[in-house]
Amino acid sequence: MDAFTCVRCDAVLTAPVSRVPYPAYARHTYGNGRSLPVLMESGTYAVDPEPFGPPWRQWSEIDPAEAEARGVFAPVHALSFGMPGSIVMAPGDAHGTVLIPERTEGFCCGLDGRDGPNLACARCGQEVATRVDDCSLWQATWLEPSAVRRVATGPDRSITTWQTLAEERHSTPPVEENGSWSPRWEVEVSIALAHLVAASGGSHVTVPDGPLAESFRRSIEDVLPPGPNAKHAALAGPGLPAPDPAPDILVVPRHPQTGEPWPTPPGVGAVPLAADVWMHLAFHREHPLLPATGRLPAGVARDEPLSPWPWRPLYVVTQAFFHTLARLPAVRQPWLRAIHDGGSAQFR
Ligand SMILES: [Zn+2]
Ligand SMILES: [Zn+2]
Repeated sequence: MDAFTCVRCDAVLTAPVSRVPYPAYARHTYGNGRSLPVLMESGTYAVDPEPFGPPWRQWSEIDPAEAEARGVFAPVHALSFGMPGSIVMAPGDAHGTVLIPERTEGFCCGLDGRDGPNLACARCGQEVATRVDDCSLWQATWLEPSAVRRVATGPDRSITTWQTLAEERHSTPPVEENGSWSPRWEVEVSIALAHLVAASGGSHVTVPDGPLAESFRRSIEDVLPPGPNAKHAALAGPGLPAPDPAPDILVVPRHPQTGEPWPTPPGVGAVPLAADVWMHLAFHREHPLLPATGRLPAGVARDEPLSPWPWRPLYVVTQAFFHTLARLPAVRQPWLRAIHDGGSAQFR
């Protein structure tokens, strides 16, 4: 476990927190005017591997070799040449910070950090963090890497085994009470779709009927139209029997603490998917709604709510899809680069 302290006065600025993988979509927007949940689970933090903040350079001003060296393999609008290593955590895990009143700007109904850090160390006044809670943004507190110091406060949490994860089956439901898709689901599926498209080699990919098809088939058909030599993808991971026949592409869980995908045999395309989303696809079984006749038996009070049902198909979150695609080395192949450069017009 770690905590972060102020570099100027050593005040403790966070609760004890454990490091987890960085969510690639942490800085993306989602929806229009929609209030998003807190990004990070309480008691965890993640570190943005990429620089963020000014100076920004447009793609035309960047040497492609320089972009490749930092893991960007296709043109993007702009890249930051600021400081890497921003630390993101749940706002509730910040301690001993105060808002800077003249920095509390946002676009709509909250703070977005547009003027720089909006939280100061309560003890010495140093700018230390940015609280973000405007609509369409993930609620989070971002610590300035140059303003804080990481200190170990105790042993790290042990790494949960795949077997335990499969037994616990901790999953996130895909649809919220009001029938809208969970933003995390839509984003995580969009990121996995980028990996799946890269693993396809440009062929169409078929998926078995059921949960995998409900989340992926429509988007696969948009970007990889049906044709000859289709590849087959299926779920694989802890607690599932090995798929038979062996598919060309395996959709596997990504470990929630290490970020490592479930190991796959060599030569098989692996598509990592957030473990809590994967668990739902692998193990949740909706009972089909069947037409019934007659009356309910005495003593049966059917007052439990039905599972929420989505009011629209799952859409690709194009910002997450193209962000991921641009960071996969495979995007240097012309067929995949064409999909990247085709932009969001490819999706219904
Ligand atoms: Zn708003
Ligand atoms: Zn301080």
